Amino acid sequence: DMEVAIKVVVVGNGAVGKSSMIQRYCKGIFTKDYKKTIGVDFLERQIVVNDEEIRLMLWDTAGQEEFDAITKAYYRGAQACVLVFSTTDRDSFQAIDSWREKVEAEVGDIPTVLVQNKIDLLEETVIKNEEAEGLAKRLKLRFYRASVKEDLNVNEVFKYLAEKYLQR
Ligand code: GDP
Ligand code: MG
Repeated sequence: DMEVAIKVVVVGNGAVGKSSMIQRYCKGIFTKDYKKTIGVDFLERQIVVNDEEIRLMLWDTAGQEEFDAITKAYYRGAQACVLVFSTTDRDSFQAIDSWREKVEAEVGDIPTVLVQNKIDLLEETVIKNEEAEGLAKRLKLRFYRASVKEDLNVNEVFKYLAEKYLQR
C-alpha cells in the first residue's frame, strides 16, 4: 500500500489558536504562550481512517498572517485546509471569507473545514451561533466548535478532513 500523506494548511487571523491547535493535535499539549519551533515548517501525526494509514502534515506559520505576508511556499501543494476563527474575536470571524479566497486562489478547491475555536470562552462570545452556522452554510463547509485548551473537537476536525480527502 502506498502511504497517504496530506499537507494541511491551518489559516485564520493571528491569535485565533492555530499554532496551539497544531501543537495540541500533534504533541498532545496546550501552553499559554506557544512559540513556533524555529526551523520547523510543520508537525505531523499519523492516524488510521478506513483501514488506511494517513500521515497528516500540519503546516504552521510564524505569525506572518498578522502582516498579510504568508508566502506561496506555505500554500504550495496543500491538500486540505482548516479555516479558524475565535469565539472572542469578531474580526477573525469576518476575515474567514478572505482567508478562503486566498487559499482557493493558491491551490483551488481542496477539502476544507470551518472551526470556531475557544468555545471554553463562550460566555465572552462576540459571534452568534446562527451567524457562524450561516457562514458555514454559505461557504458549504462542515463546521466545528472547538476548544484547543479543553481538547474539545480537535481530533474530529482532522479526522473529518482525512475522510473528506480520501473520498475525493
Ligand atoms: P495563532 O496566532 O493563531 O497561532 O494563535 P496561538 O496558538 O498562538 O494562540 C493565541 C492565544 O490563544 C494563546 O495565548 C493561546 O494559549 C490561546 N488559545 C488557543 N486556543 C485556545 C482555546 O481553545 N481557549 C482559550 N481560552 N485560549 C486559547
Ligand atoms: Mg501561530
